[in-house]
Amino acid sequence: MDLPNIETYLRPDEIQAIPNWGEGWAWLAGGTWLFSEPQPHLKVLVDTQYLRWSEIEIQADYLSIGATCALIKLLEYPWLAEWTATAGFKSAVAALAASLKVINIATVGGNICLALSVGTLAPVMVALNASYEIWNLKGESRLVTAKDFQLGFKKTVLQPGEILRRILIPLSNLKWTINYQRFSIAATDPALAIVVIASNHQQVRCVISASVAAPRLLKCEDVKTAPTQLINSLENEDFIEDRRASATYRREMTAVLIKRCFNN
Ligand SMILES: Cc1cc2nc3c(=O)[nH]c(=O)nc-3n(C[C@H](O)[C@H](O)[C@H](O)COP(=O)(O)OP(=O)(O)OC[C@H]3O[C@@H](n4cnc5c(N)ncnc54)[C@H](O)[C@@H]3O)c2cc1C
Repeated sequence: MDLPNIETYLRPDEIQAIPNWGEGWAWLAGGTWLFSEPQPHLKVLVDTQYLRWSEIEIQADYLSIGATCALIKLLEYPWLAEWTATAGFKSAVAALAASLKVINIATVGGNICLALSVGTLAPVMVALNASYEIWNLKGESRLVTAKDFQLGFKKTVLQPGEILRRILIPLSNLKWTINYQRFSIAATDPALAIVVIASNHQQVRCVISASVAAPRLLKCEDVKTAPTQLINSLENEDFIEDRRASATYRREMTAVLIKRCFNN
């Protein structure tokens, strides 16, 4: 849809070219969300496309995924067979149930920074113990763990003018086993519950999302009793209660998904 209230469209080729940041400014990535509904509070869009950032890069110890990388590239990239956890990216993109057009244009950064409770990529990043590199307008960077990035529904640690530059995942974590489970009433509905479990022989990282406002990493101290521990710990979580489902229903479905992860 048109956004008639937008007064200025900027397309910088480097972050430092943006002199200041003001009220009503927003980064524009794929635009699939920004142009999907009225944005009356916005007047300036700053396009990230012309920054020409690197997308998928294999570094010495990390996989680096640029924020401007389109979701489709996570499906198309020729991942090494031993990087079993990359199956989590594919499950997350498939779980979007979005049209090919959206997956071609929407970006990894847009999906993570939008910070919907039903956000599909964030729980995978938390499960794989990813870090997010955030830049300010001077090009200075800071690292935030994926676990600490999203504070709630459409709420993140980003300060005005800050931008997500890239996601860093330790290469060793890509060898973990990953299981992505999602539940919704109809396949194309937004998820009511998502559970992602990444594990190796020493540890289990279980993330619940969609049923709670932001992805939550559950504590699991003993791998042998993980399913029981994780399901018991759901008692302490704050599940969403709304017209789509009660908190109790979401908690029960989350428990079912945890069991499914272990049964698979
Ligand atoms: C009807 C509908 C249903 C949807 N349902 C789901 C769903 O169930 N699950 C799900 O995961 N997603 C869902 N989405 C979101 C969809 O995945 C997003 O449209 C997409 O991920 C956003 O990506 P984009 O690149 O188009 O971002 P944009 O639309 O360009 O931007 C989205 C937001 O992120 C900010 N942003 C973008 N990039 C950065 C960056 N690098 N740093 C800081 N801020 C940035 C923008 O300022 C904006 O606030 C839905 C979207 C629509 C329209």
